[in-house]
Amino acid sequence: MPTIACPRCGDDEDLTGEQRDEAIVLTCGACGHRWDRDTRPACRLCGAEDIEGIRTSTLEEAGRAGVRTPSGIRLVYYCWDCGGLDVTSSSPRPGPNPPPGGSRDLRALRGR
Ligand SMILES: [Zn+2]
Ligand SMILES: [Zn+2]
Repeated sequence: MPTIACPRCGDDEDLTGEQRDEAIVLTCGACGHRWDRDTRPACRLCGAEDIEGIRTSTLEEAGRAGVRTPSGIRLVYYCWDCGGLDVTSSSPRPGPNPPPGGSRDLRALRGR
């Protein structure tokens, strides 16, 4: 996680966060400033927030062919910055990896 600091005074120690729907409302204890921080996860490998959540079947990696569970689909985050895969998990796979899903279309969708 990149360090969060107050955008007004730069303090990064006296911050309190409050989960609210999709966002986290942060309050700076030093100057009283409040602001929203969205909960976009960041790459654990390089800290970039330029990551893409991609629905991936877990069937292959589970190695239990033919066994379908309702949780067979999960979101895997791919980092456009360093090419890491599953970068929000506790065991990210360092890049460069090809974008999951064999897709260049994702970039197109993002208007890049
Ligand atoms: Zn502040
Ligand atoms: Zn990264």
